[in-house]
Amino acid sequence: MGLFDKIKQAFTGNKPEEAPAEDKYEAGLEKSRSSFSDRLNALFANFRTVDEDFFEDLEEMLIEADVGYQTAVTISDQLREEVRLKNVKKPEEVSQVIVQKLVDLYGESEDSEDNSLHYAESGPTVFLFVGVNGAGKTTTIGKLAHQLKEEGKSVLLAAGDTFRAGAIEQLQEWGRRDGVPVVATEAGGDPAAVVFDAVKQAKEDNVDVLLVDTAGRLQNKVNLMKELDKIKRVIVRELPDAPQEVLLVLDSTTGQNALSQAKEFNQTTDISGIVLTKLDGSGKGGIVLAIGNELHVPVKLVGLGEKMDDLQVFDPTKFVYGLFKGLIDQPANATETD
Ligand code: GDP
Ligand code: MG
Repeated sequence: MGLFDKIKQAFTGNKPEEAPAEDKYEAGLEKSRSSFSDRLNALFANFRTVDEDFFEDLEEMLIEADVGYQTAVTISDQLREEVRLKNVKKPEEVSQVIVQKLVDLYGESEDSEDNSLHYAESGPTVFLFVGVNGAGKTTTIGKLAHQLKEEGKSVLLAAGDTFRAGAIEQLQEWGRRDGVPVVATEAGGDPAAVVFDAVKQAKEDNVDVLLVDTAGRLQNKVNLMKELDKIKRVIVRELPDAPQEVLLVLDSTTGQNALSQAKEFNQTTDISGIVLTKLDGSGKGGIVLAIGNELHVPVKLVGLGEKMDDLQVFDPTKFVYGLFKGLIDQPANATETD
């Protein structure tokens, strides 16, 4: 059974106890959901028959919805074939098939991916956060530190962004708010030295999780990559199994730009997962499809709003439901048994 059918069964069957209440995903993806269905409706309003022009517009619409070029082409090609086979003429009849294709395509790429965050079996776990300025690294660290603490874990933060003005203070402010210690140096200091001290302290104090902030920009790209490399080497030298995660933080509001950043980082740094921020403000939730199909790096955390608990561990089923709810057909007469 494809993901589409699984979701349909879980959410439209007579099993209310299994259907999630209005949750963070539904709320955080509202903009994406409405912009997608608006686009779909506009497309259908323009066409009376399913012809070649229709498919061209569909492709364009999918690309604009940020599902990625490759995904858009794949879907419209599969749809052409299906429409031919089933002899479909009315655009409305294709609507369900489009959503089904999107969901299943998404399911295919996600099934093979591990969305969970990995922790050390013993000793400190280290998560290294990388990404361009403004992506949401420091905010994500602040929110995650709070959540880990709530779970009863001890947390330490390392202010590895010594380059950007105010970056150290921003992380220290999160540390105060979360009640979590922060290892820092003065602005302009050596980030690798800060990370070295932080790892040492994490080992001495037997800290559960060390979250390492890094600079998003240096004098140039080569320097940045060299520095990330150096930071990683310092960590590995002290804790051979660390970092358990190297998380690339991406701002979803930048759409395709986020995707090219991801490709670039992925070429030079070993990324273990992606944090997709600001999904609440973007209407570009489709980017998750593009990441899944074109990048093959699992999304591990999503930022669905500004509140502490709006940072969520990525749940593909909830995400897809949040994105396509309402477009996934409700059965006219719900006669299914449980
Ligand atoms: P950094 O340069 O990568 O460390 O980015 P920051 O953590 O400083 O974040 C840049 C801006 O994005 C801040 O104003 C954050 O409040 C905002 N931000 C980060 N994550 C989210 C999110 O998930 N949703 C929303 N709405 N804003 C976010
Ligand atoms: Mg920062």
